[in-house]
Amino acid sequence: MKRITIAIDGHSSCGKSTMAKKLAKEIGYIYVDTGAMYRAVTLYALRHQLFNDDGTVNKPLLKDHMNNIHITFRLNEENLQPETYLNQECVEKEIRTLEVSNHVSPIAAIDFVREALVRQQQQMGREKGVVMDGRDIGTVVFPNAELKIFVTASAEIRARRRFKELEEKGMPADYNDILKNVQERDYIDSHRSVSPLRKADDAIELDNSHLTIEQQQQWLLEQYRKAATE
Ligand code: C5P
Repeated sequence: MKRITIAIDGHSSCGKSTMAKKLAKEIGYIYVDTGAMYRAVTLYALRHQLFNDDGTVNKPLLKDHMNNIHITFRLNEENLQPETYLNQECVEKEIRTLEVSNHVSPIAAIDFVREALVRQQQQMGREKGVVMDGRDIGTVVFPNAELKIFVTASAEIRARRRFKELEEKGMPADYNDILKNVQERDYIDSHRSVSPLRKADDAIELDNSHLTIEQQQQWLLEQYRKAATE
């Protein structure tokens, strides 16, 4: 089988990272969570007061800070899961809070932020053998990826899943706040002028509203086998 590039895009909270991570582990590929990178920039901006009072971003100030923001991934040696580091600090938990979720879309809509992160993502995937998930992987980061999947599910189902996930992590939140956040991120991500979220013409769409993780994984593995043997 040939080594390929696998791009998994789609709406917020529809399990892209769970499926991408599992697939990468199963086939021995590298997994890159690009959402974590936008979240890490957001955490940095929150910590350095780079948001204006009205929730918009102080872009000139953030631009000045961009060279001080270094994002890397390292494998947690206990559970073998990749974790996100911001300037050498593990921020895997901090980047998943609702506060970061509520501020990330305006950060991800900024052209110089996207340019910097896309460049780094292309570098990470230059040898192929990578499963990358995000919003613009099949359209912008790797437009020539051999396998592109576009995942979606109803907003209510996605909010319920995220609610459960946060609860299990001991980070309880309000269901309605999460639903609102999911809907707002869908809207901002699809309507921004730079790299809006859209399905690439050659992507395969997967609505996983009523699929179990096992069914989804089976389906994904089949798509991989087809793409890697073509
Ligand atoms: O995937 P996740 O929900 O963690 O992504 C957080 C946010 O980062 C998204 O809502 C979106 O605004 C942004 N994002 C993006 N492009 C990517 C990955 C994430 O704009 N490739």
